[in-house]
Amino acid sequence: MLELLSPGGTMEMVREALRAGADSVYVGPLGWSRREAAYELPHHQILEVVQMAHDQGAKLRVALNADIENADHGEMMQKVEAYARWGVDGFIMKTPEAMRTVHARFPEITIHASVGCNVRDRAAMERVKEAGATQFVASTALNTYERIATLKRTADEVGIGVELLIHSNRCVTGVGGCRLYDYFAPYFEEETVHDSDGSTRIKLIGNPDKGGVCYRPCLGTHIPQIAEKFPAKVLTYLEKSNNEIYALLEDVPKYIALGVTTLKIQGREYPAPLIAQLTKIYRRLIDQTKNGMADVGAARAALDPVVAERDECRNAKTQKLHERLMAKVSEDLHRRLVTQMETTDWDPNSEEARLRRAESRG
Ligand code: SF4
Repeated sequence: MLELLSPGGTMEMVREALRAGADSVYVGPLGWSRREAAYELPHHQILEVVQMAHDQGAKLRVALNADIENADHGEMMQKVEAYARWGVDGFIMKTPEAMRTVHARFPEITIHASVGCNVRDRAAMERVKEAGATQFVASTALNTYERIATLKRTADEVGIGVELLIHSNRCVTGVGGCRLYDYFAPYFEEETVHDSDGSTRIKLIGNPDKGGVCYRPCLGTHIPQIAEKFPAKVLTYLEKSNNEIYALLEDVPKYIALGVTTLKIQGREYPAPLIAQLTKIYRRLIDQTKNGMADVGAARAALDPVVAERDECRNAKTQKLHERLMAKVSEDLHRRLVTQMETTDWDPNSEEARLRRAESRG
């Protein structure tokens, strides 16, 4: 049966999404998912949201979709054991070895290969299926009905379900397929998060695969100190690229007819009322489609103002992330300047020193 899966970045968001008609909600345990800690839930709250979802006949999925090293499997399994006992309905995962470990212990639990797996061909489907995934999130690099229909046919041959992000960020090479943030690796920040079960985990801010938020440098090429970190050919590529919204609203009825397993809304970082509005709009369209009365025009009219609000939130967040990145760049320059002064015959009154000081102030 088709499932509408909504984000649960906070308890309030879980509550609102369920009230708005989500069939299932996904949450991230502190330190283990591809979001900032503010949009993940502590251990004890995951039990509360499982009960909340089940009380309303809905499902609760847990995102363990940051990179998980083999050395962390013991710690991961302690959490997974608890979630399985509490009746969690599925895990959204990225790392094949981690999937294998969970699947070996709980073969009956649904495993979603996260969008971070960047699945867009048969080989990738076979790889995640072999690791234990029962469905995969299609890469956001695929954005036409024809390409997604082809992908679904292949998935049917492989024997794995297809989950579509119907409302998401795009990322220039598909969410999970981008490594542009690596140009900014010197500015990543470690953050230790403490969970209510006594465990701790380190996130790497700047690197979404390591559980941190991306600084979104791809959207900061108008800032000289960011642009200069990219090679010229990457900058040219970025100028022609699109990292705006990825929304499949118009074709939702066709995707339902194709038989996709899940339609997913992304956005744990947005305000809960906004996620409730998105969930309501897609819920209505799905129900209308099932009743043979899809009104895509009305759905689009309802969606446009919500998208405008979402864009406003996203732009404000992007600006904050760029300010955070610029602060790290300035700090780094300052540190290098001090080191140079301490280790060489550096003349603090020289023209070069004046220019470096100006640069480090941004
Ligand atoms: S926000 Fe930009 S830099 Fe970050 S992962 Fe997406 S495309 Fe890459």
